[in-house]
Amino acid sequence: MKPITRPEEPEIEPSYTTFVVTLFNTVGPYCSFCEKKLNYQAYLFHKLRGNLERDAHLTLDDWDNLLLICGECRESAKDYNPQQLNLYLWPDSKMALSYPFCYVKRDNVTYRVVDAEGNLFKEEQRTFVFVETNNDIESNIVQAANNTINLFKLNSKYYNNNPDNPQIIIPYQDFIEVSELRLEQRYEAYQAATKAAGRLQRAAATLVVTGGREFVDNSLTLTNEIIESMGYVSTWKAAILANLDRETLGKIFPSIINDSKRKDIEAEVEEELLLEDDEHPTKKKRKEIWPGPPIVPPAQ
Ligand SMILES: [Zn+2]
Repeated sequence: MKPITRPEEPEIEPSYTTFVVTLFNTVGPYCSFCEKKLNYQAYLFHKLRGNLERDAHLTLDDWDNLLLICGECRESAKDYNPQQLNLYLWPDSKMALSYPFCYVKRDNVTYRVVDAEGNLFKEEQRTFVFVETNNDIESNIVQAANNTINLFKLNSKYYNNNPDNPQIIIPYQDFIEVSELRLEQRYEAYQAATKAAGRLQRAAATLVVTGGREFVDNSLTLTNEIIESMGYVSTWKAAILANLDRETLGKIFPSIINDSKRKDIEAEVEEELLLEDDEHPTKKKRKEIWPGPPIVPPAQ
């Protein structure tokens, strides 16, 4: 779950649909909680009212409490009690800016499909990426972040919540109806991001021998485009940070310097990964900061 900055109250005729469209255009077409790309199913979640129906009465005063949500997060949060608002960490809150979530790849997760009688239909060891919390921040923030993970069941309702012995146990009926895709898609995003990190690494190596940032910028643009189509930007960020060392990151994202703090690096990488068009100022900033390769005097 990444931090969300909601712009000023829009000048629109308030309705479910106009709020969805405005959020698509301003904060992006992604679920505010799991970060899935919202292609066909986009809903509104109201922090003071919970899941909204499409005919919900809304006024402009509701703007500050509205968040886009996908069908799976919506289903997970159906028992949300707005009186417990303050127990949770919200993506549009100040707390979210401390980047309390981490995305951790775990191999050898026991993945089991069982029927209603408890008979084992299928069992294998698989890899998934789980949302967990960074424990180097204040404990009240960690607690709120964990409450949010649990409310929206960001690791699916089938996860046993035990990183030491991770298990996913799915009832056969749910398995054939494919009612939960977030975990599968998050791991697909992680794999795509690992490949992208390899491309960025190779592109960064060209910075010392060629005159400009073309390879790096092209690789970044390709990365931006894939993220735009898949979503799950925090997962992308985690894979890229896990696969590239600090020196390479500094070449690709020149704002990252040696003593950059973790949350500043996260914010910077996230901003660059979600870069959506050429008019975005960040791309220009890259060019200004990167002075080009060292100048080698011509041979005499
Ligand atoms: Zn979601």
